[in-house]
Amino acid sequence: MDAKGVLIVGETADGELSSTSKEILAAGRALADSLGQELSIGVLGRDPGSVAEDAARHGADRVYAVAHSMLEEYHPDLYLAALESLARDVAPAVLLMGRTASGRDLAPRLAFRLSTGLAQDCLEVRVDESGSLLATRPVYGGNAMATVSCNGTPHMAAIRPKAYEPLDADDSRHAEVVDFAVELDASMARSRVVETVKEEAKGIKLEEAGIVVAGGRGLGGPEPFADLQELASVIGAGVGASRAAVDSGWVPPSFQIGLTGMTITPDLYITVGISGASQHMAGCSGAKVIVAINKDSEANIFKEARYGVVGDWKNILPGLTEALRDLVKS
Ligand SMILES: Cc1cc2nc3c(=O)[nH]c(=O)nc-3n(C[C@H](O)[C@H](O)[C@H](O)COP(=O)(O)OP(=O)(O)OC[C@H]3O[C@@H](n4cnc5c(N)ncnc54)[C@H](O)[C@@H]3O)c2cc1C
Repeated sequence: MDAKGVLIVGETADGELSSTSKEILAAGRALADSLGQELSIGVLGRDPGSVAEDAARHGADRVYAVAHSMLEEYHPDLYLAALESLARDVAPAVLLMGRTASGRDLAPRLAFRLSTGLAQDCLEVRVDESGSLLATRPVYGGNAMATVSCNGTPHMAAIRPKAYEPLDADDSRHAEVVDFAVELDASMARSRVVETVKEEAKGIKLEEAGIVVAGGRGLGGPEPFADLQELASVIGAGVGASRAAVDSGWVPPSFQIGLTGMTITPDLYITVGISGASQHMAGCSGAKVIVAINKDSEANIFKEARYGVVGDWKNILPGLTEALRDLVKS
């Protein structure tokens, strides 16, 4: 069978299509239009068909609902088996996934099972005149961009969350829903989920925040993060950190922004005591306005920031917080 169309591996969160899946649908829609082919999404779960309308509104032509009681919770071996079966049956020319926690887990395994290659952590995907996928991704710790193409079929890419904007929801769009049956049994699961611990979400979610305030090694310890938290609560911001602050144990890993942390795209990003290493900037280069507070006027962050204050944060942060408090009140 000739490989045709674009297939997306969808993800759900609390029974709804995840925001990352909507972003990947936007990337897939553009590819499908360039190829003049259809855009499909495979959604796995106990009742995955419930997200079909939402998937259609965000660009899908067809939804493969892969329903099975053993797919209710994410399990790498069972999800892999179901996706392999779906991908072999649908035989897409291009297969896209989000580089989410489960995407990182599944994409390489699925590529191996399908005997194809995988472009990881892509920021942009397009097709050339011959219909081959060209995927652009950061290399050398974010210091350079490489555009790679993939020889195998399907052409597979895992796209970084927030690299694409979801399409505006279009209520007039409808998708064909195809129930796709998979045969799964317990012997396929070579690992066992012993416990699932949900991290308690405190404050505003970083990846969704319109404003983010982040601290780095220059803060000197965990306590000043309370000062950042205060500033954040005044302006309705999320709080993040550099890897140096995370590695020092001052804040949990979920705070980390950068190449090996979260990608954020806020309207305003305020950094305090962060040098602006390329690996940090890789996670925040989509911020519209960066404001930097750093005592070293030569720090790289000032090359990236629209506004900068050179000085010790201890002398700057209290005044900034109070000034913003007054502004917010008035
Ligand atoms: C493969 C790889 C992946 C990585 N991934 C990430 C990642 O995801 N995210 C990330 O952040 N990093 C990442 N890093 C680490 C990165 O290279 C930097 O080491 C890190 O970002 C530095 O953090 P920092 O800016 O807080 O610390 P530093 O580079 O030490 O900078 C501290 C800054 O604080 C300033 N400062 C000090 N005291 C004060 C003061 N009192 N007032 C004001 N300013 C002050 C200093 O002038 C300095 O500029 C990665 C590195 C590698 C190799």
